[in-house]
Amino acid sequence: MSTISSFAMIDFMRPSDLLGTHTRLDEPHRRALKRLGILTVEQLLLHLPQRYEDISSIQSVGSLQKDQDAVVFGQLGGLKTRKSWKSRTPISEGWVEDGTARIKIMWFNQPYLAKMLSDGMYVKVAGKVTGSEGKLYLANPEVEKLDSLPIDRHDSIFKNTETLDDTIYPVYRETKGVTSKWFYHTVQKCFAAGVLERLIDPIPAEILDRYNLPSLQTALIWIHTPKKPEHAESARKRFAFEEVFYIQTAKAKERAAVTVSTSYVVQTAPTHLKAFTERFPFPLTNAQHQAITEIMKDFSGKHPMSRLLEGDVGSGKTAVAATTAYAIATSRPPEGIGKKIEYGNLQVAYMAPTEILAKQHFESFIQYFKHLPIQIGLITGSGCYKFPSKSDPEKPTPISKTQLLKWVKNGEIPILIGTHALIYKAVEFKHLAHVIIDEQHRFGTNQRRALAKKDTRLPHLLSMTATPIPRTLALTVYGDLDISLLDEMPKGRKPIITKVVAPSQIDTVYAHVRTELAAGRQAYIICPRIDEPDPSKENALQLKSVKQEAERLKTHVFKTARIDILHSKMTPKEKDAVMEKFLAHQIDILVATSVVEVGVNVPNATNIIIEGAERFGLSQLHQLRGRVIRGTHQPYCFAVTSKDSTGKSGKTLERLKALTEAKNGFELAEYDLTLRGSGELYGMKQWGLSDLGMEALKNIKLVTAARTEAQRLIEHDPTLAEYPLIEERIANLSKTLHLE
Ligand code: ADP
Ligand code: MG
Repeated sequence: MSTISSFAMIDFMRPSDLLGTHTRLDEPHRRALKRLGILTVEQLLLHLPQRYEDISSIQSVGSLQKDQDAVVFGQLGGLKTRKSWKSRTPISEGWVEDGTARIKIMWFNQPYLAKMLSDGMYVKVAGKVTGSEGKLYLANPEVEKLDSLPIDRHDSIFKNTETLDDTIYPVYRETKGVTSKWFYHTVQKCFAAGVLERLIDPIPAEILDRYNLPSLQTALIWIHTPKKPEHAESARKRFAFEEVFYIQTAKAKERAAVTVSTSYVVQTAPTHLKAFTERFPFPLTNAQHQAITEIMKDFSGKHPMSRLLEGDVGSGKTAVAATTAYAIATSRPPEGIGKKIEYGNLQVAYMAPTEILAKQHFESFIQYFKHLPIQIGLITGSGCYKFPSKSDPEKPTPISKTQLLKWVKNGEIPILIGTHALIYKAVEFKHLAHVIIDEQHRFGTNQRRALAKKDTRLPHLLSMTATPIPRTLALTVYGDLDISLLDEMPKGRKPIITKVVAPSQIDTVYAHVRTELAAGRQAYIICPRIDEPDPSKENALQLKSVKQEAERLKTHVFKTARIDILHSKMTPKEKDAVMEKFLAHQIDILVATSVVEVGVNVPNATNIIIEGAERFGLSQLHQLRGRVIRGTHQPYCFAVTSKDSTGKSGKTLERLKALTEAKNGFELAEYDLTLRGSGELYGMKQWGLSDLGMEALKNIKLVTAARTEAQRLIEHDPTLAEYPLIEERIANLSKTLHLE
């Protein structure tokens, strides 16, 4: 083709060249590519096909025979709608043309179809060939609108497909301005310009050999022009491995850096801890014991701990956190440090994602520490407190920020609780030995170092999460952390009663909630998820649905209840204000979006109704119902399906039933991954993995292989001095994944 030869005339194409230096790009093209993050030749090559079409299953219109099941690609024409003469049913008709011939299409009684279609539109049409020779037509075929034909009319699509080679071609993710076809041709041009020979594979060959993965060059050819489906499959596996491997390597590198640092050595006698935990109004669960033991072991080592405490809401993470804080705050002073204060030469920072959560942790800590002469500080945007107050040893007292910061700096306050941002920015500690952090997935070594300011020792880190994720994802994104799992709920807790409810039964649910409200309880009502690719539109729609639902409930269902709303368009301050009111029981029912994931403890809220439940992943439903398991009253969760889905096969209900049976959120996350794919995992987007990378999470072998290799590589070369290409990939990663 002429374009290819003109391309090849450019003597040298480097992978890092800007695409625009080799091919003409108009403004819409440029913008579209930018949106997809494609600037260079290499980035184009790594824009992988979304799927493949097999053209051996596509027929040309000219070859169609009566009674055949046809799949043809072409352009629509001659569309019109009329009423049949006898029955007056509307009939739409038109034709599809593919360059070899045209065939008539007829739809009966589907007038809306003709409205959605228009002449000249590119379509894939599938249906049975009917009629008689010479008067063949497709009756009621399925029509799928395409942005363009998969490949050019004059290309291989209509060439003889008897030899089964080259019948699969790629379909790329498109965006306004660039078509799949454009990607296909431009990639082929780059191949023809010899760019593959100039690509260097960052993955060492021996690793690829060990797992039978293709080289970068082979994988690119296979993924963009597979001759067999297995080739595409094998190539995808390589790219998936590569993505997971880079994340794992980044994590392993981070871990190696922490491992060589020194921290505060804290040795705690078991009897000493026992004196603290024995005062709890409950016995620790085995899982809590185990986690505390693991943490104490880490504390006693020279190097900083990096540990993740995973456990469902209510599994007792705060109790574990308090025990570790106690161990630090009462530890003997390390050598060379004065003994001016009886307790607390070593310090603990406890960081929460929101102000209201910070306050709740402060209150819990007061309960755990009130018998001890250990000072606890709280720093928030709206004020600072210290416990105990001089005048009342049972109560906290407000103090100025300046005063608080001074006491933290001179070490007089050993435990400081506050929001992530505030502690991170404003506070200087004397000897920060331990950082406890809630739901912060991207707290890297750099943050830890920054918190420690001039201190040469790195604090121990206990990161806590209730976000249910499957094991493969945990191994990947928490690759730098050791994991303690609280997989056991405290005994005697009333298990949540979960019911999957059809819309026709909603009145029984409302009646139940009315009884609960009358008994003095509170309720959450969660509006259905709205799928809308544009986040700003989604927010607006969600807001509308929350407002409407609150209005409807107020006028028709819960006429005497105090109802308020919570949604993602509110500022953190507004959200906190509403939550405070809900907590103070000035609101009976909180109508909210699912996006607002407050981990706030409102023990009196014992009911949650989740509308449109089938639109959520199981792990998210679990996360949502976690809001009502904090109190002593019996908690209820009603997962209400929406009208359109209950009629469908029992599948929806079957899936939701897992909610009533699963042991914990992690189990549900595994279900989500196997049943619906990684897209359904709770908060999946926040991990920043590509679709391909997420696909890889289904493959535990692949994930563990990538982990083994990443660890081996870092053990051999902790700074990646010998692997500049991998180092570079990781640097790019931390930009997109915000690893730092
Ligand atoms: P998480 O932070 O994991 O959501 P919390 O530590 O806030 O859980 O604990 C939830 C509730 O359970 C608190 O009221 C706490 O006092 C209580 N709790 C914690 N551990 C236990 C236990 N072992 N037995 C009984 N209750 C417990
Ligand atoms: Mg908690």
